[in-house]
Amino acid sequence: MVIRCISALIAVLLSAFPALAEDRIKVVATFSILGDLARNVGGDRADIATLVGPNGDAHVYSPSPADAKKIADAKIVIVNGLGFEGWISRLVRASGSKVPVVVASKGVKPRRMEGGHGHDHDSDPHAWQSVANVKTYVANIRDALIANDPAGRATYEANATAYLGKLDALDQEVRDTVAKIPAERRRIITTHDAFGYFKQAYGVEFVAPQGVSTESEASAKDVAKIISQVRRQKIPAVFMENVSDPRLLKQISDETGAKVGGTLYSDALTDGNGPAPTYIDMIRHNARTLSGALMN
Ligand code: ZN
Repeated sequence: MVIRCISALIAVLLSAFPALAEDRIKVVATFSILGDLARNVGGDRADIATLVGPNGDAHVYSPSPADAKKIADAKIVIVNGLGFEGWISRLVRASGSKVPVVVASKGVKPRRMEGGHGHDHDSDPHAWQSVANVKTYVANIRDALIANDPAGRATYEANATAYLGKLDALDQEVRDTVAKIPAERRRIITTHDAFGYFKQAYGVEFVAPQGVSTESEASAKDVAKIISQVRRQKIPAVFMENVSDPRLLKQISDETGAKVGGTLYSDALTDGNGPAPTYIDMIRHNARTLSGALMN
């Protein structure tokens, strides 16, 4: 009787705490945005570690020995792909782990780069700037979690479905926000070329002196070209990014009179005190910041 009571008690405890820390599947996500997506799908069953944290620049990241340890402990590693994390294969090799590496952007239509911009990437990695693409990311993360933790299938499916619903609402919200901006004012400057997928999805034109990576600096010629473009096309505003040096943008603003419209978040979330601690907050913040600067 006592034994039966104890086992009943244990069963109750287990169902109340299905996710004791040591039972949770250990997942590594390469950067803050993927970490947030993985947390939304993994919920209580997954323990998500992120390599490049809030406000960090994954283009130029140097992994540490602690990162190799995180990879060695992980059951899945989730990467963006599309050439974003140039350092990841070496890091996985260095960790000595045979962990599966899941490419979250698999199935997304890559945006091919137009030539002549001084960078050596074939496709634009910033696919998460389109909410529709992130629905693909979420499906890939869900499937990878199920494949590596089949007992959690129902949880992962329910979490993903709930989150995909929020993404649909977000996508519509961005469309509604952009629709209110006069068409001729939907044109802005950012430091690095991170918003090509946002442009494709929502119809705001972004011009950037720096290429799709932050690795190479903009040349004086690139900057001069942008300055004359701002004047010619009467581009109303320039925006800073949390992962880029603001000085270049200030120079363009000073020389052209285009106003500084605020900060957009391209490649990294903020910490909990900033305006973009989650992916949904980030996209919403960017859309509102754009409309706030371009509407008047
Ligand atoms: Zn970038």
